Amino acid sequence: CKIDYQAPKDLLKDRIIMVTGASDGIGRAAAKAYAAHGATVILVGRTIKKLEEVYDEIEEAGGAQPAIFPINFETATYKDYGEMAELLVKEFGRLDGLLHNAGILGSLTPVDAYNPQQWEQVMQVNFNSALLMTQALLSLLQESRDARLLFTSSSVGRKGRAFWGAYSISKFATEGLVEILADEQENLSSVRVNSINPGATRTGMRQLAYPGENPATLRTPEEIMPTYLYLMGPDSKGDNGLKFDAQPPKTD
Ligand code: NDP
Repeated sequence: CKIDYQAPKDLLKDRIIMVTGASDGIGRAAAKAYAAHGATVILVGRTIKKLEEVYDEIEEAGGAQPAIFPINFETATYKDYGEMAELLVKEFGRLDGLLHNAGILGSLTPVDAYNPQQWEQVMQVNFNSALLMTQALLSLLQESRDARLLFTSSSVGRKGRAFWGAYSISKFATEGLVEILADEQENLSSVRVNSINPGATRTGMRQLAYPGENPATLRTPEEIMPTYLYLMGPDSKGDNGLKFDAQPPKTD
């Protein structure tokens, strides 16, 4: 548990870190926090205008010049991830960190009534795309002397709950992938692979899942950054295949 971790200002100096879903919510806060701690951040997402806003905010705050990589995880194919890898090889030659954060909620519906197309869509965006992207980028992470591969989970990715359907399954799959990759990389490379559950956080997705909730009662994305920073920096070198929580569990 690293909720109180205090990151030194230069924690991520000279590190090249990619964040998916960097246009909004937790990913946006993570991209800005990583840049504020010295990283060159690659902003990945589908809404270019929002990514450009994050880009500007990072530059205005004095961070290293970021890069933008637009992609739609619903429709991207293996070929697109290959092109992403080629571009990264050309521009940077390595990757020191990758935060898989982009995600969608789908609908809160009993399994028997869940729309199969929507089930597939949620699996595509939340799990399959992260798997394909990891396959394409792993060799770039292995080029780093100290790389981090971080996947975003959820409380329902660790314990199933009624009506959470595809979202919950996509997070269980993610946790499984983390265990497999961590075991594979343990003695093979410097890549350390872990999962993070942000916990109830004030974002658009949370509002969609709990429309009756007062957002003011929730932690903001900025407030949960200590664990995100810890897991991208050198201090987490010894952590591999572990499940982290970015805040104390909420009882709801
Ligand atoms: P938001 O809805 O605020 O942000 C989601 C991000 O994912 C946005 O940047 C969004 O882009 C991007 N995204 C969604 N679909 C696609 C797509 N097809 N292609 C590319 N990018 C896409 O969500 P949160 O910040 O709340 O969630 C971030 C992560 O944290 C998710 O994995 C979520 O499951 C997890 N989580 C969140 C919790 C919470 O309480 N907020 C609790 C537990 C887990 P765009 O801006 O274009 O929409």
